[in-house]
Amino acid sequence: MLTLAVQKSGRLSEKTLHLLRESGIYVENGSSGRGKLKAAAQNFPMEILFLRDDDIPECVADGIAHAGVVGENVVLEKKRPVKIVERLGFARCRMSIAVPKSMEYRKLEDLNGLKIATSFPQILGEFLQKKGIRAEIHEITGSVEIAPSIGLADVIFDIVSTGSTLLSNGLKEVETVLQSEAVLIAHENLSPESQTVLDQLLFRLRAVQKAESFKYILLNVPNDKIEKVCQILPGMKSPTIMPLAMEGWSSLHSVIREDEFWEIIEKLKQNGAQGILVIPIEKMIL
Ligand code: ATP
Ligand code: MG
Repeated sequence: MLTLAVQKSGRLSEKTLHLLRESGIYVENGSSGRGKLKAAAQNFPMEILFLRDDDIPECVADGIAHAGVVGENVVLEKKRPVKIVERLGFARCRMSIAVPKSMEYRKLEDLNGLKIATSFPQILGEFLQKKGIRAEIHEITGSVEIAPSIGLADVIFDIVSTGSTLLSNGLKEVETVLQSEAVLIAHENLSPESQTVLDQLLFRLRAVQKAESFKYILLNVPNDKIEKVCQILPGMKSPTIMPLAMEGWSSLHSVIREDEFWEIIEKLKQNGAQGILVIPIEKMIL
């Protein structure tokens, strides 16, 4: 049995439960049942603990949960002894220093002597120390972006994804300190039983994530172009080639990376491919 800590409600919850569902693990949403803290997963030996994201690293470090899904920024802030076992690719954001638009900012040293509001004092403190900047850190738990306008601080250090929140609060981003995404963390010394379930979970998560970054592609090619087209389509091992009813043509099936997709499609068309179909893959096990 594995106990997995996930965020009760917030930016990580929905994607985490979605990823589990895609892995064939069904869990009742923690935010739906009134104040529900625990839920058993269906068809997988796992129990879910719904917590505030801030509490997840500690809970995993203490062994109350064997593993958890949380933002890497929170793992770095809490500095609890946990292992990052997988990067999950969602809840991407960066942590940046932002200053009022009217402030003339040229270099990091301009922060010397200023008061910086943040909910992440540990990460900021380490960054400032590394860079030899002496600024005052003012810890607040929420609404960091309004701190300069109400006179609570001169500048802020906060999470940024699109930057629109900063803009609407009259701030500009001046230094990016770190990039973050959701990660799967685990207790440092799992029992063999829990480790086995974690390995099964990882196997499924990786199959889902891999599938999401690839597409299945089908296309028709004149026989004299097959060789050329096969060079463009690397495939998992090699493409499948089947004759079409129409004389002189074949159907090719293969797998391509989502990020190479447009470039490859162009090359395929130039080499006589027609009737190109691109289909999402649900799971992928290599
Ligand atoms: P909780 O109530 O669980 O403490 P929270 O308000 O601290 O929740 P959320 O705002 O739900 O946290 O964000 C959770 C995580 O999502 C962040 O720590 C960060 O890793 C990630 N994230 C991604 N984009 C953003 C964003 N635009 N704003 C805030 N967090 C973001
Ligand atoms: Mg939080």
